Amino acid sequence: MQIKLYNTLTRKKEEFIPIEKNKVSIYSCGPTVYSYAHIGNFRAYIFMDNLRRMLKYNGFELNHVMNITDVGHLTSDADTGEDKMEKAAKKEGKNPYEIAEFYTKAFMEDMEALNIDKPTKITKATDNIKEMIQMVKEIMDNGYGYETSKGIYFDVSKLDKYPVLSNNDVSGEEHGARIDVDPEKRNPYDFALWIKAPENHIMKWDSPWGKSYPGWHIECSTMGRKFLGENFDIHTGGVDHIPVHHENEIAQCKGAFGHNPANFWMHCEFLLVDGGKMSKSLGNIYRLSDLEKKGAEPLAYKLFCYSSHYRNKLNFTFEGVLSSQKALNRLREGYLKNLESKQDVSDDIVSEYETRFHEAINDDLNMPLAMSVVWEIIRSDIKSEKYAHLLEKFDEVLGLDLINSKQYLKKEIEISEELKTLLEERNKAKQDKNWEKADKIREEIKLRGYIIKDTKNGVELEKIN
Ligand code: AMP
Ligand code: ZN
Repeated sequence: MQIKLYNTLTRKKEEFIPIEKNKVSIYSCGPTVYSYAHIGNFRAYIFMDNLRRMLKYNGFELNHVMNITDVGHLTSDADTGEDKMEKAAKKEGKNPYEIAEFYTKAFMEDMEALNIDKPTKITKATDNIKEMIQMVKEIMDNGYGYETSKGIYFDVSKLDKYPVLSNNDVSGEEHGARIDVDPEKRNPYDFALWIKAPENHIMKWDSPWGKSYPGWHIECSTMGRKFLGENFDIHTGGVDHIPVHHENEIAQCKGAFGHNPANFWMHCEFLLVDGGKMSKSLGNIYRLSDLEKKGAEPLAYKLFCYSSHYRNKLNFTFEGVLSSQKALNRLREGYLKNLESKQDVSDDIVSEYETRFHEAINDDLNMPLAMSVVWEIIRSDIKSEKYAHLLEKFDEVLGLDLINSKQYLKKEIEISEELKTLLEERNKAKQDKNWEKADKIREEIKLRGYIIKDTKNGVELEKIN
């Protein structure tokens, strides 16, 4: 079946045909590990997971590389500010390598909780420094780079076209917020390939330009080339990468080896909070653990993401994710009912559902449409084991771990029944003015991972993490 994907480069949905028959090569921009990843970041990785799973569903083998940025991402996406890793290290009184290790581990744990399949290769920027220096040298040798007192810069005026991904007007006088007017730069949109390190900078390497470190963009260009070659199928990231990071990646590849490396550039839209961007710098972020405290599993958040197409903005609310939690449990119950049913259903009906689901995912990952097929099956009056097996097949793309539905539901029931009994006992103790017993039960509930809150609407439980 034909696959169509939206390509930011051409601003069109195009038929996807891989370079190599039956094999797809993908590069995904991974996290900058200076802090915990938030649920907005994970929207981008859930999109990446859907893409991987959809391609596998279509029978492709994957060669998928994701990087870990552990150096060189400055506090502004342009070339101003401090390295995020060094800044976090100072704040936490650790060294940047410890910071990277700690937050990479936390990121991987959250990825697992979201049942996001692991890329074929996960590689750290700091493990590829030699190749990065080599690529900067090639860019310099080809006449696209120049040295200033701050580092090595890319001269965008040497390209026949810049930008190619975004609509930025680089010829105008108004250069917008991303531009730092540095008198040493030849053109305002020139960007740093390599950065000369200040004396107190910890992450720095010997290079032809003294003790220094890579710019964020050269890292991804180098790692993509090293592990996937100079031409691969798909490059993914969030929409914020379009105007700076990915634009500059394309420029660097043109400077080093003459062309854009990826045939398809795909970008996931933002998760919003109260209508605005969720971001670490604005301080309005939530982690998966914040959702769990309110009773929403990571997989409920994954299902919540399917309520909107990846190219549309999605507004986050706790109400929304809690209703996805209820929907997830309904889905699990529905799957189990079908699994245990002895009713039969015609193969034609099953294959019609399969085709509709397959068409939806192949149409630029239309997850809301794919989910509507799932709900039709769940709502159907007929329950059949054949439907259960079809749902298992769909779950290869949804990644909701439906096969383990029983365990998830059992856990919920066990916790809620036990907690209900404890709460009743505590209410009774309070009525009897047996404060000692009420406090003891509070502690017991705490041991099970919940805090009791006495509110004017009665008692509420909040999950601790
Ligand atoms: P970072 O760790 O900051 O490099 O970001 C990791 C990924 O998350 C990138 O692909 C970003 O584009 C993406 N991202 C950051 N904030 C959001 C958000 N609010 N919604 C969706 N994706 C985001
Ligand atoms: Zn990147």
